[in-house]
Amino acid sequence: MTTSPAPKLYKSREPVFPKRVNGFFRRMKWWIMAVTLGIYYLTPWIRWDRGPELPDQAVLLDMASRRFFFFWIEIWPHEFYFIAGLLVMAGLGLFLFTSALGRVWCGYACPQTVWTDLFILTERWIEGDRNARVRLWNQKWNARKVRLRITKYTVWALIGLATGGAWVFYFADAPTLAADLVTGQAHPVAYTTMAILTFTTVFMGGIAREQVCIYACPWPRIQSAMMDENTLTIGYRAHRGEPRGKHRKAAGAEALGDCIDCRACVNVCPMGIDIRDGQQLECITCGLCIDACDDMMAKVGKPRGLVDYFALTDEVKEQRGEAPTPIWRHVVRPRTLLYTALWSIVGLGLLFALFIRSDIDLTVAPVRNPTFVTMADGSVRNAYEVRLRNKHGEARPFAVSLSGAGPLSLEVEGTDDATIEVPADSSQLARVYITAPAGSEQATRDRTDVRIWVTDLANDDRAHEDTYFNGKGN
Ligand code: SF4
Ligand code: SF4
Repeated sequence: MTTSPAPKLYKSREPVFPKRVNGFFRRMKWWIMAVTLGIYYLTPWIRWDRGPELPDQAVLLDMASRRFFFFWIEIWPHEFYFIAGLLVMAGLGLFLFTSALGRVWCGYACPQTVWTDLFILTERWIEGDRNARVRLWNQKWNARKVRLRITKYTVWALIGLATGGAWVFYFADAPTLAADLVTGQAHPVAYTTMAILTFTTVFMGGIAREQVCIYACPWPRIQSAMMDENTLTIGYRAHRGEPRGKHRKAAGAEALGDCIDCRACVNVCPMGIDIRDGQQLECITCGLCIDACDDMMAKVGKPRGLVDYFALTDEVKEQRGEAPTPIWRHVVRPRTLLYTALWSIVGLGLLFALFIRSDIDLTVAPVRNPTFVTMADGSVRNAYEVRLRNKHGEARPFAVSLSGAGPLSLEVEGTDDATIEVPADSSQLARVYITAPAGSEQATRDRTDVRIWVTDLANDDRAHEDTYFNGKGN
């Protein structure tokens, strides 16, 4: 008995060699690539004067002192809600754009798309356009092929190195770290991070390319929940294009649709798909097939838009001979308005929190082991760990005081006047004692609410936190 071989679960990858194309969407993608890569590579080199005590790098993730500097804004660890809020805004922004315009993030601004575009661009410069690259791929190895491959991978490695290098510059003073990297004095973590990012950049942007979008990225699966029949996305007007055929050669060409089956839309596609097969998970809506098809339509004297941005509802209307819904009606819908409103609420909330936050701050943690101590004179004492934060660029004297607690008194360990010098842009932990006189109501009561104040003696700024005082109870 003969047994047939088990079927393969995975199809071998067919390499994609996108052809060069010109047009509106291609130009827009070049601009977006230049702006996004420019921001990424250059931002760590922007200087921002914050005074002598603070770093002068405009954008810095200072892990050692646990600070995030963004131009004039400094985020402390206890203010992580700003980062959380920004992430929520980024998520809502993505929902908004996806529900209105489909996968615009994937097609234009996703780092995977941008770097893949850059790697394809350099590949085209080195190995030639689509036909030359297909020939090179299929031909046997010879000196020219080896030379072109070595050149390509060297350039890709340099791009990867620049990408990894730019990343580590966000975590330390860029000029200092650059000098340390060159002289071999940088921390091993910096070299390791750069090596990992160099490899992942070349692998994901240069080698795996569309495979990352199709198989590794969860976003194409999630986004379908944000799109509906009114979302603008890229499609092929089959009712106009079919039956397809090569007009000049085909008999009965007058019965054919507008698609001349030139496959220009397929040849430029970085995902290697045919948009004429309908909407597909692989499509990142980059718009390059629109440029390619518009170019062809211009050449054969047909109107543009055989492949275009439109919504499913428009397709149905067009097939019935009705005018499609205006673009603004697709963008301005209850769903997109809801996302915009939520996005604005979170944004305004963050702005409000940013403008009302104080330059001094404290947190109070009562010491609960023991909850109170009875002193020799019968008074009752509670201890507290108070963390004082000075967000100014210079040291400030902070006075700690108490309010709203009758005869209670406050002392700060190691001081005579409950005043502490807190260094610039730092926090300082102080041990604070609150004492209730013997026989007082607060000494005998179970619990008394108190408010601890900190006052910046340089400018009288104040901040407070509420806590409570534990008496002996009944
Ligand atoms: S089908 Fe068109 S829009 Fe979709 S990925 Fe390919 S070229 Fe881009
Ligand atoms: S580019 Fe346009 S005309 Fe050419 S095959 Fe694609 S849809 Fe048809």
